Amino acid sequence: MRSSIIGRHFCVKCNEQRDHVRFGRRIEPSKTPDTTFIWAEFWACDHCGNHLEKREERSWPTDRDMITKRLLKVATDYAQVKASHLEVRPAKIVLTLELHPWHIVEVLRRVEAAHPTGFYRASDLYRLEQYGVLRCPLDENRMFPRRSPTRQERKSSYLLG
Ligand SMILES: [Zn+2]
Repeated sequence: MRSSIIGRHFCVKCNEQRDHVRFGRRIEPSKTPDTTFIWAEFWACDHCGNHLEKREERSWPTDRDMITKRLLKVATDYAQVKASHLEVRPAKIVLTLELHPWHIVEVLRRVEAAHPTGFYRASDLYRLEQYGVLRCPLDENRMFPRRSPTRQERKSSYLLG
């Protein structure tokens, strides 16, 4: 079942605030189509079914908005990214990425692939311990580190169910 979008709006027929269900939305041209658009939403009162149209003029995203969005993706798209910091200033955007060494990424992938079987290469675990990503000493460690999945991996695991 698709979940509906519910919003609280004033219904002229009921003459009071009511829950409304959104049944449509679209972009319409504004008077200044180069810089803005009209965001139109169509709602129906959950109580009496009366229709309500809401229109709002919004600005198209700027290049700065698009760049920020794209850079945010970089941080989650690559397994080698250990930490990221994005600083957005009026005329400058600074993305700082802290990276795992590539050989550690390879070890993390092998350890991950071994999770279902529970058989790990001792040399892999040793290297992770040396690198400092095992929280407990090797012989007491029960929780092996997992890197967060990349966007691509999340997408494919979602598609595969
Ligand atoms: Zn109503």
